[in-house]
Amino acid sequence: MLFKDIIGRSDLKEHLKHTVQIKRISHAQMFLGKEGSGGIPMALAYARYILCENRTAEDACGSCRNCIRMSKLEHPDVHFSFPVQLVAKKVDVSDDVLDKWRELVLENPYFSSDDWYDKQLGNNKQGTIGTKEAENIVKKLSLKSFEGDYKILIMWLPELMNISASNKLLKIIEEPPAKTLFLLVSENSDRIISTILSRTQLVKILPPKEDEIAAYLAKNFELTLDEAKNYAHLSERNVSEAIHLIKNTASSSFNIDNFIQWMRLCYKRDVPATIDWVEQISKAGREDQKSFLKYCLQMFRSAIVGHYTGGETVTLTKEQAGFLSKFAPFINHNNIIPLSEAIEEAHYHIERNANPKILFLDVSMKIFLQLKKA
Ligand SMILES: [Zn+2]
Repeated sequence: MLFKDIIGRSDLKEHLKHTVQIKRISHAQMFLGKEGSGGIPMALAYARYILCENRTAEDACGSCRNCIRMSKLEHPDVHFSFPVQLVAKKVDVSDDVLDKWRELVLENPYFSSDDWYDKQLGNNKQGTIGTKEAENIVKKLSLKSFEGDYKILIMWLPELMNISASNKLLKIIEEPPAKTLFLLVSENSDRIISTILSRTQLVKILPPKEDEIAAYLAKNFELTLDEAKNYAHLSERNVSEAIHLIKNTASSSFNIDNFIQWMRLCYKRDVPATIDWVEQISKAGREDQKSFLKYCLQMFRSAIVGHYTGGETVTLTKEQAGFLSKFAPFINHNNIIPLSEAIEEAHYHIERNANPKILFLDVSMKIFLQLKKA
């Protein structure tokens, strides 16, 4: 991450570069901004600028030894600490899942905590920064730096540290080893203990401007500028959220297209074409299949209420809306329960690695019967 890769905030970038140029780097800084404002990208660019061997007034060079290590998040003097979902005997500290974290940050530096938990264990259980992690940090920062320059700790979401970890960290922030820099990147300072807060210098990370976000999205997600502006606006300048919206829109059209195709086939009881369709859907990823089944469930329920939407971000095409209004009467109080059960059961088995070909064909047969009764 270079400063030039960060969306907007040129005022803050100038300020941070200035602290390096005049050698006034405060040893403990709290980068505070709400989700999707870019705290992590800013901390990474700052750390890189500090360590770069050939920095200019503008940015780090991007090609020296330190820059190259930073671009892979593998600099031996830069340590990362973040909340982890504890797994007995397997995951205690950040280092245990550092590879996954690196992968996520390199893929999308504007990730959210949900993205991280999804990456770690595939669920949304909140992680913690525990006592073992704090001990690990103290140990690492007490060693001499490899390159003789700064040792930098970048801690993401310090608000998720437990009390005993906070106290351990507090001690080392108060009496830091020489040339040690703490960059704490927080989304909610209300939850950080006041003794830590009062010992750090506050750096506010305001979200980028809407047009700056739009330009970034247009460039990175192959959108027209108008589409990108729409996402920037809908997300209320939360870049993580804007990226989620873009990805969900892509999966919503997958879902609605497949739903319409499947229901048409089931209604016609066209067995050979259903088998072809099952072949297709079986090739999709398991997560996509699960999300599709959930979507079907939602569509059946919408039919009963008589109110269809294509999901929050998708506007239905005329053809899609036409199909759904004709289809709705076939879902009624007699078949909604067996239909929902068939879909829920399929979801359950997909999650447990059932063979999707057998499963989707089986559910298709159940839907044949239920639509016939209508
Ligand atoms: Zn460099």
